[in-house]
This record gives sequence, C-alpha cells and structure tokens, in this order.
Amino acid sequence: MSIRFNEDQIQIRDLVRRIAKERVAPRADEIDRTAEYPQDMFDLLKELGLFTLPFPEKYGGSNSLVSACIAIEELGRVCYNTAYLLMTQWMPFLAIMTGGTEDQKARYLPGLAAGDLRGAFSTTEPQSGSDVAGIKTRATPVIGGYSITGSKIWCTNSHIADFVVVAAKTGDDDSTRGINLYIVERGTKGFTVGRKEDKMGGRGIPSCPLFLDNVFVPEGNILGEMGKGFKKVMEAFNKSRPLIAARGVGLAQGAIDHATEYIQQRVAFRQKISDFQGIRWMLADMVIQTEAARQLLYNAAAMVDAGAPSEVLAPISAIAKCFSSDTAMRVATDAVQMYGASGISNDYPINRYFRDAKLLQIIEGTNQIQRNIIASHTLGRPTR
Ligand SMILES: Cc1cc2nc3c(=O)[nH]c(=O)nc-3n(C[C@H](O)[C@H](O)[C@H](O)COP(=O)(O)OP(=O)(O)OC[C@H]3O[C@@H](n4cnc5c(N)ncnc54)[C@H](O)[C@@H]3O)c2cc1C
Repeated sequence: MSIRFNEDQIQIRDLVRRIAKERVAPRADEIDRTAEYPQDMFDLLKELGLFTLPFPEKYGGSNSLVSACIAIEELGRVCYNTAYLLMTQWMPFLAIMTGGTEDQKARYLPGLAAGDLRGAFSTTEPQSGSDVAGIKTRATPVIGGYSITGSKIWCTNSHIADFVVVAAKTGDDDSTRGINLYIVERGTKGFTVGRKEDKMGGRGIPSCPLFLDNVFVPEGNILGEMGKGFKKVMEAFNKSRPLIAARGVGLAQGAIDHATEYIQQRVAFRQKISDFQGIRWMLADMVIQTEAARQLLYNAAAMVDAGAPSEVLAPISAIAKCFSSDTAMRVATDAVQMYGASGISNDYPINRYFRDAKLLQIIEGTNQIQRNIIASHTLGRPTR
C-alpha cells in the first residue's frame, strides 16, 4: 500500500478519513434506508471546503484529480451517497471548465466550488443510454438562442440542481457531431423535473426524468462552440473516469472493513470463521483485487494531473473505471457471502455495499462500453 502522496494529499486523506469515520459513517445506513437527500452531508462537505478539490487555484482548489480521488475513496469507504455528492458537483464543473466560455465560467464555477450552486448533467433518454447518438431531444434555432424539446431520464441531482447541462441535437446530422450542450436553468418556462426513480443503490441522491417543452435557452447558455462543445466535454469525461474508479476502490475497502470485523466475531464449529482457510483466502483475494484497483486508479489520476493527452488517458481511465467497479462488485459479493444470512438482512450494513456496487458497473459508460474503448485502442480503431 505504497502510493506516494504528497504532504497536502496525506493531510486531505487523514482529515477526510477522520470525518468519514466520525460524522459520515453514523448517517450512512439511514440515508440508504430513507432514500432522503442528505442535505446535512452536503453542508458538511461545503463546510470542509471539499468541493473545491479538483478546481484550479483561482477557484480556491488544489487542481488535483489525485486529491479529489482521495476524498472520494475515503468517503465512499463508509457512505456511497456522501461520496456521490462530490461527483454531482464535479460533473457540471468539468463540463463548464472544459467547454464553457469565460462568462459561463464566471457565472457558475465559483458557486459550484463554494457549494452555493448545484448542477446536473443529462444525456440519457428512454431509447438511448450507451448509444448517445440516438438521442431525440432537439434544439431548434430561434431569435437570440435555441428552443429545446424532448425528454430525458436518469438525470441525477436534477431535483435540487440550479441548472442542468442538457444534450440536444440540432440540424440533420444523426451522429454525435449533431449534438450540443445547453445550460438550462431551474425555473425556465417549459422545463420540469419528474418523479424520482426508486433505486436499489445510490438511494440518497435522486435520479429523475426531465421534460423540456419548447424551453428557450439564450445563446449565452450554449456550452462551447456549436458542433465542437459536446466532443470536448466527452473527452474531459474520459479523463475524469478515475473519480468513478475511486468510488469503486472506496466501496471495496469499506466492504473489506466490515467483513474483517464480522468474521473475527462470528463463530461456527467452535471457532471464529476467520480461522477457516476458505474464508481467509477469500479475504486475501478481496484485498489483492482492491489493492490492484487502487494502483490503477492513482496511476490514472496522476497521469491526468501530469497533463497526459486525451488519447493516452482514454484507455487508462477506462481500465481504472472498469477494473475498480468490477472489483467493487466482486468484493461486495464475497463480503455478503462471509456474513451468511446476516448479509441478506437489512439489520447489517453489508448489503448496502452490494447494492451500491452494481451502479458503478453501469454509470458513466457501462463496463461493456469501457471494454469497447480499451479494445478499440488496442486494435488501433475508433470506438463505434
Ligand atoms: C444511478 C444512475 C445514475 C445515472 N445518472 C445519470 C445522469 O446523471 N445523467 C445521464 O445522462 N445519465 C445517467 N444515468 C444513465 C446511464 O448513463 C445509462 O444508464 C448508461 O449509459 C447505460 O445506458 P442504458 O441504461 O440505456 O443501457 P443500454 O445502453 O440500453 O445498454 C443495455 C446493455 O447493453 C450493453 N451495451 C450497449 N451498447 C453496447 C455495445 N456497443 N457493446 C457492448 N454492450 C453494449 C450495455 O453495456 C448494457 O449492459 C444514470 C444511470 C444510473 C443507473
């Protein structure tokens, strides 16, 4: 466990680890059970100034994806939903930081960094998730801007967001080249957020459908140059995937923490189950896989911080996301197995890890899509 963090990063890790243990862990089960948005946890992250972490220094941040991953890992170890709060702040930040004009940066980034503004990002529609080119929401040019009509699903954080970055198609180009991003502000006429999904995991941070009926978006709210903004932002998300990997590693480590405690107090056949070789080897495999995922994660994040080019980062980030989330699923499954029937009971925390882990294999590009990116890169062919 020998990742070399600098002094600042060690301080961030120690601080977040302590806060996670003392203030976040005691809330984790309740957030999952009630599926209520954890405003108190949002306020805590805001008070600690953690939202700023990946932001450039001019917004009070450390400009470091490694530092951001450390915070996510430590929080995700005890509470998936609280770690998710950082991600929901950072997705719109990355989109605007990458594709936004100076005016848009000035309008939104200080608020996001301070936790005074919240955003959401929306591409997915009922007929198209992985296949982004299949979206049907349309943006039609009108005087002074665009009029957007369509519907979206699974837009996380939209129930509370001050604005949503929405993907819509313009013109006749049916590929992703025809897609642009528009900043739709809460309260804009014709824009409504629907009822939240009843999810098996990530229950504290709602995902909702969006309905857009002739929503006027002024020119100043188009993200990036028409025809180029979407590609640029998607490339930025390729780079940010280590953040999802950090959630996987944190979750896996948390499952190991719980399982380690449980197997040392549970007795079967007059001995602690931690004395059975079958259980010990399972535990060792969980640790081996999690440590391997951690190395991939921080290697990818360090490459982002070092400014590696997008074409190098795309497969490296995909490998980290894919391996870490598959590891989280495997480790959480084995942890439930170690608990026996107690692993199925909602009186124990471990099935929360199992349910949350599944989301990580689906969000931010499913793991099949990550494998497509990795294979295409290896074969030297563009991803379909
Ligand atoms: C908790 C949660 C939060 C979310 N938050 C957001 C959000 O904030 N904003 C947003 O826009 N979306 C969000 N999503 C949606 C998410 O991005 C999509 O669910 C995801 O991209 C997959 O799309 P889909 O569900 O339509 O599955 P599909 O694309 O229909 O895929 C179904 C299956 O087919 C596989 N598949 C599809 N294409 C290929 C291929 N080319 N090769 C191999 N296999 C393939 C997939 O991997 C999957 O296993 C969220 C989803 C969840 C579960």
